[in-house]
Amino acid sequence: MSAAIRTGKPVNRLHHRWRPTASIAAALVNHFPHLEFPYLDADHTHGVHSSIHCFCPRHNLFTRVSLICILSDKTRYACQMCALEAGIKTRKAGGFSTKQYIGKPGVQSGIFRAVKEVFNDAVWEHTMRCGKEIDVWVPSINAGVEYNGNYYHSTAIQKDGKYHAKKSLLGQKEGQGIFHVFTDEAVSPYLNIVRVLQMSAGAFTYEPNKRDTISVCDPLTAFEFYKEWNYIHPKFVSEVCDTHIGLFRRGNLIAVISGIRSFKKVLRTSTRLYGVPLADMLKAFQIEVGGNCTVWADWRNPVEVNSWLNSPEIRYIDYRTPVGFHLDSGYSIVYNSNSDLATDTMLFDCGHHVLSL
Ligand SMILES: [Zn+2]
Repeated sequence: MSAAIRTGKPVNRLHHRWRPTASIAAALVNHFPHLEFPYLDADHTHGVHSSIHCFCPRHNLFTRVSLICILSDKTRYACQMCALEAGIKTRKAGGFSTKQYIGKPGVQSGIFRAVKEVFNDAVWEHTMRCGKEIDVWVPSINAGVEYNGNYYHSTAIQKDGKYHAKKSLLGQKEGQGIFHVFTDEAVSPYLNIVRVLQMSAGAFTYEPNKRDTISVCDPLTAFEFYKEWNYIHPKFVSEVCDTHIGLFRRGNLIAVISGIRSFKKVLRTSTRLYGVPLADMLKAFQIEVGGNCTVWADWRNPVEVNSWLNSPEIRYIDYRTPVGFHLDSGYSIVYNSNSDLATDTMLFDCGHHVLSL
């Protein structure tokens, strides 16, 4: 289209490069002396549609708010907890009670800051095209972290057992890998979460080495490895899985698969390099337990699923619906379902992808 027949306002081609001016920054600090604006320079800003990250040090909590709303006084608190304490029932402040919140202050904020340190474009609470929200989203790698703290999304008394699975399914349709993290798995400084994101972005690629060996791994070594390289239920690995096969290089673990001997199932996979020979590890597992096995890859961790799906010789069998875990009175998962601690409070995962050789 030629410029001569254009109508309407001329397009400002530098619009996307607009940044809050020093006077706006000063106004924000003046207006909200209790808040910090740590990412003002990096915040995604488009003039009237600008949104900025606010941090409340008193509650250790991030929010992302419209710059216009905050400057025009429509957003008076910009911190959900500050608003709640002042008796303001915002959409988000209504979602959890103060009592529950005290248990795990600012975990989602901590995850966000850890991710933001590695991925500068990380966004607090991104809305997918389907309308569902992801807690932390990284546009550059098309992946996000969903913090399923029992206190934020009513997970503990979930009516819908497929709540998380549906979100993953919708996210996958939009090409977004979603890593679902539960409360007891999010441990500061959240390196295990940042590392799986880095791996999904192509970091830590496996190069075959003829000195690499595959053999049985002792449970304690496996447990320590899981804590570092796969955030999902490390206690599940130590308390339920009885057989572990490791890929070693000069005595150090590169990857490990774990399962239950009598069930002939591999139930957890953890790797610090992407593209390890998982089929060979599964063969060693089958020799160890004496029979063909299935692999149950947890959809809460897209790296775990994709590592298997992209392995030669591995074939896809089925998707299985979410598994429910009982929670004790402190909202910790009870892996032994016969425990007296078990209540009718349940926590559901995203389901598993089942594979085999
Ligand atoms: Zn606050």
